[in-house]
Amino acid sequence: MAHASSAYDLIVVGGGPAGSSAARRAGLLGLRTLLVEKEAFPRYKACGGALSEPARRLLDFELPAELCGPRILGARAHYRGRSVECRTPFPLATTIARGAFDDYLLRKAQETGIEAKTGERAIGFTENADGVELQTSKGAYRTRFLAVGEGSQGRLVRQVRRKDRPTEFAACLVADVELGEEAVTARYGHLADIHFGVVPLGYAWVFPHRRHLAVGVGGLSSGLHGLKERLTGFLAAQGLRSDGPLRAHTVPVGGKRRRNATARVVMCGDAAGFADAWTAEGIGYAIRSGQLAAEAVAAAAPGQAAAETSSAYAAACRREFSRDLRDSLRLATLLHGSAGLGYRVLSRSAKALGKTLELPAGRAAPGQVFRWLAWRLPWMVLGSLRR
Ligand SMILES: Cc1cc2nc3c(=O)[nH]c(=O)nc-3n(C[C@H](O)[C@H](O)[C@H](O)COP(=O)(O)OP(=O)(O)OC[C@H]3O[C@@H](n4cnc5c(N)ncnc54)[C@H](O)[C@@H]3O)c2cc1C
Repeated sequence: MAHASSAYDLIVVGGGPAGSSAARRAGLLGLRTLLVEKEAFPRYKACGGALSEPARRLLDFELPAELCGPRILGARAHYRGRSVECRTPFPLATTIARGAFDDYLLRKAQETGIEAKTGERAIGFTENADGVELQTSKGAYRTRFLAVGEGSQGRLVRQVRRKDRPTEFAACLVADVELGEEAVTARYGHLADIHFGVVPLGYAWVFPHRRHLAVGVGGLSSGLHGLKERLTGFLAAQGLRSDGPLRAHTVPVGGKRRRNATARVVMCGDAAGFADAWTAEGIGYAIRSGQLAAEAVAAAAPGQAAAETSSAYAAACRREFSRDLRDSLRLATLLHGSAGLGYRVLSRSAKALGKTLELPAGRAAPGQVFRWLAWRLPWMVLGSLRR
């Protein structure tokens, strides 16, 4: 199947959910595949660690129980001293420790017979009519196609499109707070905590894991200053303390138009800008776009122009989730951009909060939630002013 001058059908850059999912699907489809990851695994990844229900269902294997923390079964929303709680009869997400989760995904990819080189950084690529050469910190490899899953801060993407502008990515800062299992359960149970008004155009969150909390703040970076002070202030206000480092990272704002492919190179996951603008969820989009990249390469007929393969990948992503990403951006713009009125409604109406929780549960599409709220928001705001 490999082209005469190419050792591989597909090289994947990055061993996060996008890269490992691309490599696993490619391995299962019989493609000669190499994955290159710059870190030694398991590695740390700044993340809330909430694996949404649709994201979990994308995996073609069960996650071992020891990788999974509590399921999230609802949320509390807080704003200016008021709060509301909504418990859901369905799970929203499973909490996972990203280091262990990503490590497991990489091992599931290797299980299919693909080659993986960790501790090797991709530096750049050269594309020509019959293949791509990937240059790394340790050598160079030839492949028919390259899938880039290098996350939101990679550099290879710059060979395909311009750098994201400040309005095209969100900045987040996260800390792990060790509490112990009993205290986590007593204080948070299976509920996520969302606090509005802590950062402009964003929120602070607390996700309960088995023995610790993932606490973070994040929002559209063009509106963010002093993220560290905001997170330490938030932790203190909650009576929480983190002895570990505070880790900052970026999440692309999904729903923006981005160029994501050349003839033989495709971007997946965060590198492609596939993350939800309202929830910051990106693991599911990373998994699915990685799978789609491998499927497009495997479906390429002999003699087919390479650009048809990358176009087929781009079209599959558009078909499966472009509209959701765009609608999530509209939802985020509605709720963050209404001078606090959206936050006011979400922190007073269990019904409105519950509607937004249908998103991570996969029970409503972002467009449905957007339309539901856009119609009702003015009346709900009026109702909340009377109280
Ligand atoms: C603070 C924070 C909280 C979040 N919380 C959630 C959440 O609760 N739920 C959720 O669904 N999403 C969450 N997200 C988003 C989610 O983390 C990302 O969308 C997801 O990790 C994207 O996966 P990926 O595989 O595209 O990239 P990544 O997970 O970033 O993986 C990229 C990999 O590529 C490697 N790499 C980078 N450059 C190179 C190179 N040059 N050569 C070789 N390897 C390279 C990196 O080491 C890394 O292992 C959060 C993000 C942040 C910042």
